[in-house]
Amino acid sequence: MDPEISDQRSAVEQYLRARPALVRWRERLAGRRYRLANLKDRPQPLFVIACQFRDSERATELAWAIEHDWAEVPARCREVYDEILFRAPQLVVIQLHRTNVCGCLGHRHVAVRETPFAMPHEAFGGEHAGEMDIAFDRVRTWQALPLSETALDAKFLAGSRLEEFHAAQFRLRLLSIVLHEMNHLVLPREPEASVRERSMAFYREALAAYTENAIATLSLTIDRSFSRLG
Ligand SMILES: [Zn+2]
Repeated sequence: MDPEISDQRSAVEQYLRARPALVRWRERLAGRRYRLANLKDRPQPLFVIACQFRDSERATELAWAIEHDWAEVPARCREVYDEILFRAPQLVVIQLHRTNVCGCLGHRHVAVRETPFAMPHEAFGGEHAGEMDIAFDRVRTWQALPLSETALDAKFLAGSRLEEFHAAQFRLRLLSIVLHEMNHLVLPREPEASVRERSMAFYREALAAYTENAIATLSLTIDRSFSRLG
């Protein structure tokens, strides 16, 4: 991990722990939980996934997408977001919802609503944090690329490979939405059409690369078992 970001992680953890006990008890009783996540190769942003206790597993899945799937995506997909991530606030809150009343998959927030991060603090560089929300369960049922996704499904047939593929596909969707909202946060004037084009291209290419990889390792296992038979 980048030393800069690991310092920042500890600074934020320390900041959260150093708040008055009463505030922390109230927060825990209300079921509020925070989980930190960062992109492996970037000094910023540090993400704080804010969720209810009942959604802890969802938060873990989102953190996995940010911390692991991002690192597995081809470099050319990550490079497209170089400038956006470079200009990102040091700390970005992701409010994890199950659904949104409006039916959107996510939004950027103009001001931070999550109380502990609403005001600038030295733990996050003395500047304002950024904030977005994600409608986790909506993303699961979202038909991002209906035609090509069905075509890819056929390559994995049924069974555990298909399940693995669906899980990875879902996490790549989550990741593309985080990047989409980051894009809005950093470049608020960029039109939706081009923000969307960038995040959809990211998703499409990342998914294609995952599939290619998975199929390559799959045929390798098949070859090996055949040679063992011979
Ligand atoms: Zn948008």
